[in-house]
Amino acid sequence: MSQGIRKLLIANRGEIAVRIIRAARDLGIRTVQVVSEADRGMLATRMADEVVVIGPASAAKSYLNIGAVLEALRDSGADALHPGYGFLSENAAFARAVTAMGRIFVGPDADTIERMGDKVNARAAAIAAGVPVVPGSDGRLDDPAAALALASDMGFPVMIKAAAGGGGRGIRVVRDAAELAQAVPPAMAEAKAAFGDGGLYLEAYIENARHIEVQILGDGETVVHLYERECSLQRRRQKIWEEAPAVALAPEVRAALCASAVRLAQSVSYRGAGTMEYLWDPHRREFYFIEMNTRIQVEHPVTEMITGIDLMREMIRVAGGEKLSFSQDDIRCDGHAVEVRINAEDPARNFLPSPGAIIEMQLPEGDGIRFDQGFDAGSTVPPYYDSLIGKLIVKGATRAEAIARLRAALDATRIGPISTTLPLHRALVRDPGLAAGEVSTQWLETWLMQGGLAAEATG
Ligand code: ADP
Ligand code: ADP
Ligand code: MG
Repeated sequence: MSQGIRKLLIANRGEIAVRIIRAARDLGIRTVQVVSEADRGMLATRMADEVVVIGPASAAKSYLNIGAVLEALRDSGADALHPGYGFLSENAAFARAVTAMGRIFVGPDADTIERMGDKVNARAAAIAAGVPVVPGSDGRLDDPAAALALASDMGFPVMIKAAAGGGGRGIRVVRDAAELAQAVPPAMAEAKAAFGDGGLYLEAYIENARHIEVQILGDGETVVHLYERECSLQRRRQKIWEEAPAVALAPEVRAALCASAVRLAQSVSYRGAGTMEYLWDPHRREFYFIEMNTRIQVEHPVTEMITGIDLMREMIRVAGGEKLSFSQDDIRCDGHAVEVRINAEDPARNFLPSPGAIIEMQLPEGDGIRFDQGFDAGSTVPPYYDSLIGKLIVKGATRAEAIARLRAALDATRIGPISTTLPLHRALVRDPGLAAGEVSTQWLETWLMQGGLAAEATG
């Protein structure tokens, strides 16, 4: 039985804070929301049982300030902490400090974060578990000469990636030896500055790849998968539109992919919610593991829509010491779900950030429609953090039905006066190529360059 979480501190903000509070309420758990001074008015502060201001607007002084978060944890008497995504969610030292205080970290243990959250370590774990990885370096590349030798061996183009990278940052494509020699030193310096770790590694660059990832859940003994998501629509390597199941995956490939994710998670006795990310190479017809996210992901709702399983609730239960309440055979995949990220950015002005007060917010309603929001009318999107306002998620019996429902739901949504990515999604949802499933991780940027937005957006 559960050690029984009674009071949960939420060390995050925006829509994921709201999502965590909802799940905690359903479980009868009290909530403590920590906020920066800039976030005093956000929706989660009006839903939580208690609110603690932990520092000024700057993330470094608030949501990333380990000392301040731990102090709030101690003083609030919360017996558990949920890190959400981003911020401290994949910080092993932080998870270790929470546990050392005798509190529960809602996520895997610190050793597992170290093993799987670092991309170079995770590659090694995948190889050991017999899971294919993108051809690349065996370990960290700590000097430019080694990088050059390896890239010349593998053949260009290659990707330079930061071992500690995330959120699409710390990645560069280089097309020849000269570009590589030029790119390595600043990439190391940037990774050091952004992630506190200058470690780099190399991967072959896969053209027209599709991003497919597998949701897993473990309780330390049993690991199950909840099928896959496709997140090929990206801008600057950040996901914009996600769906489940993947658009056109052969059943035997899907089975092998999901089985490999379970095998890898089992090899580290994984406990919690996690995602194994892969690239599908359409030319070689192979999938390759790229990284694991040892946390809940932004796009988890599409999986909840097709499986009917509340991932947030399960991850909190498992952290509290309970076993999974279902087995692999109980997990069914039904219908098709699509999520679009609605950011405070202006797609007509090269995605210029558009923070500010929201005065109007009209949300779609109806069967198969879900809106996960971090802000509501009357609240202000601050300029200091990522620009996600909320996520619109729809489900249909088929992909075509989901897309039709998404079109109607987007048309019924009004958020203003700040600019949002709604016009982008209204154009995307009407695109015949996207409807036909002709997607890859390069698709969206090509579409934008070719004027896809201008051709169809209405505002
Ligand atoms: P998902 O795979 O769930 O979509 P992303 O990789 O897009 O996750 O990241 C989710 C959030 O976490 C974003 O706000 C992103 O900016 C942030 N993030 C991810 N990794 C890191 C990191 N290593 N350091 C700082 N922020 C990160
Ligand atoms: P992050 O931690 O920032 O999420 P990932 O390793 O998951 O970094 O890669 C982010 C995205 O970058 C992928 O979804 C894909 O679009 C692209 N990418 C990563 N590795 C490769 C590769 N080897 N070849 C082609 N594209 C890649
Ligand atoms: Mg990733």
